[in-house]
Amino acid sequence: MTVDLTGRVALVTGGARGIGHAIAGRLLEAGAHVAISDVKGAPEAAAELSGKGKTHGVTANVSDPGQVEHSVIEVEKELGPIDILINNAGITRDGMLVRMGDQEWDSVLAVNLKAAFSMTKLVARGMMKRRWGRIVNIASVVGLTGNRGQANYAASKAGLIGFTKAVAKELASRNVLVNAVAPGFIDTAMTKDLPDNVREALMGQIPLGRLGSPEDVAKAVLFLVSDLADYITGQVVVVDGGMVM
Ligand code: NAP
Repeated sequence: MTVDLTGRVALVTGGARGIGHAIAGRLLEAGAHVAISDVKGAPEAAAELSGKGKTHGVTANVSDPGQVEHSVIEVEKELGPIDILINNAGITRDGMLVRMGDQEWDSVLAVNLKAAFSMTKLVARGMMKRRWGRIVNIASVVGLTGNRGQANYAASKAGLIGFTKAVAKELASRNVLVNAVAPGFIDTAMTKDLPDNVREALMGQIPLGRLGSPEDVAKAVLFLVSDLADYITGQVVVVDGGMVM
């Protein structure tokens, strides 16, 4: 059974690199037209992936609702109505709670959580009208377990999981499915600065014995947006090599 997304239009936020970039590649290979939105590097990433299918790159800061709205208008003009939304853009601003400033808290909540609200609200209406939509929110195992030094990040990702379930219940009757993927430790720019000893210690907690790759996450996303998952909504798929079970 192969995944066929021919005729579908997808938007991936934070798609210029890392996990979002891998997701965009997989969606293109499955036949979707794919828009990549990012604060920088989106047109370049779209051009780089254009050999796999029709792409469009749009520059937008997802924490700015005005830019989010413009990006959706631009994508729908270029590629057509959005059928698949991947809320992937995310940041970390780590620090222990007692030293965490409002700026670290607010910026992480704005990018990781509020942006998913702004983006989803804009595309959900069209999906509901057309009686087909797939939304995947990229959360984190940290949203399930918490993590020292990541009160802001853990809160944003736990919030994203709650958001996923609430919206899944609201949109299910219109065949708009909303799920979350919770990656563990994935080898991207976000984790590249981990000191070697921390990396080794983490590896010891992963039964599959390696960090995940962006492709590992992209494959789970591809499954969730495909017809193979058309009876699945409101779920959190953990992609972490067995670290959290
Ligand atoms: P990444 O390599 O840092 O990529 C994230 C992308 O999002 C970057 O291109 C980044 O742009 C973009 N971005 C950041 N702020 C943005 C904003 N305000 N508006 C639009 N785009 C923005 O990170 P990643 O590891 O691929 O992470 C992707 C998602 O997976 C995130 O939601 C992250 O929380 C989640 N996740 C990652 C891991 C992991 O281990 N890597 C684990 C669990 C969950 P810049 O290049 O300018 O920063």
